[in-house]
Amino acid sequence: MNKRIFLSSPHMSGSELGYIGEVFESNYIAPLGEYVNKFEDNIKDYTGAGNALAVTNGTAAIHLALRVLGIGEGDDVLASSFTFIGSVNAILYQGANPIFIDSDFESWNLSPKLLNKYLCECEKKPKALIVTHLYGQCADIEKIADICRFHGVYLIEDAAESLGAIYNGRHTGTFGDFGIYSFNGNKILTTSGGGMLVSSNKEWIEKAKFYSTQAKEPFIHYEHNEYGYNYRMSNVLAAIGVGQMEVIEDRVAKKREIFGWYKELLGNIEEISFMPELENTRGNRWLTALVFQDGDHKKVMKALEDINVESRPLWKPMHMQPLFKDAKRLVDGTSEELFSKGLCLASSTTMSYEDVFMISQKIKETIKA
Ligand SMILES: *Cc1c(COP(=O)(O)O)cnc(C)c1O
Repeated sequence: MNKRIFLSSPHMSGSELGYIGEVFESNYIAPLGEYVNKFEDNIKDYTGAGNALAVTNGTAAIHLALRVLGIGEGDDVLASSFTFIGSVNAILYQGANPIFIDSDFESWNLSPKLLNKYLCECEKKPKALIVTHLYGQCADIEKIADICRFHGVYLIEDAAESLGAIYNGRHTGTFGDFGIYSFNGNKILTTSGGGMLVSSNKEWIEKAKFYSTQAKEPFIHYEHNEYGYNYRMSNVLAAIGVGQMEVIEDRVAKKREIFGWYKELLGNIEEISFMPELENTRGNRWLTALVFQDGDHKKVMKALEDINVESRPLWKPMHMQPLFKDAKRLVDGTSEELFSKGLCLASSTTMSYEDVFMISQKIKETIKA
């Protein structure tokens, strides 16, 4: 049996262990330390974000954004329905109500049309929107940002999967009031676990830093007026992040190359269509995602498992989750259809053309059988 091929496995640059060594040398295992600052600077330099805060994970970053924006008990918060639960859990942490908006087929991401429709027709105005750039592909973020501005709704970009994705020359995560990135184990870069909160608003990032370190007032005796969290990133993990940032563009290029190989090998098959890319955008193609004709995706997933290759259905939309059976929604069937037919294919940057060729052959055989 061949070695298992994963959806997206960690891929170190080679520098990480040396940087971790320096952390040990300095004994700044904790608290914080130089690598946390360096990692934040790396993210700011790369994305053009004005301010950055390294935290324990992407979910914590979203939580801090909601807290800083004053979103709480009973507030309405809009979100992409077609996403991973990490996008929306923090809405529940704050006692707010998630309202799910469907995708469109042009981007597979949040539909600006449905968003606008909701905001024009709703009786109670939502406080914020959390929009996901799914699988590293850009949502129609300029349009979405305009709509949010017009209606006075805060915009939080869930760019957990989309570090390196660019819309009209600008990085995802930098259009909203806040943006977040994740460095969880299978993301395009990983620190084994970690996240980053970014914003052009310095005071907001300062406030998020305060909440992320137990809301300590500036007194030696630990004075507290508000409650906070223990959400800061460790210096050891930040050292991994600094090593990973050296190769972010190589990783984006390789992810896009893998997508290109699948497209070249499977693109002319009528029964298959790939996740699109909006004009004037460069997605990071974190995972190659595609849809099959009815029923085929299950057969394909099983056939790939037989040759020890991982694949996975597309995210099950939030409005279909039992957890959110009572949540409000504005949906038109788009994400339900994508979910019922789609798969993510193995897209690890360690893969070779031969791997992609072998997987594509198996897919062809399976859907023709
Ligand atoms: C991974 C992910 C998150 C959560 O990030 P963590 O670092 O795992 O907390 C949130 N949203 C999306 C879309 C993700 O893929």
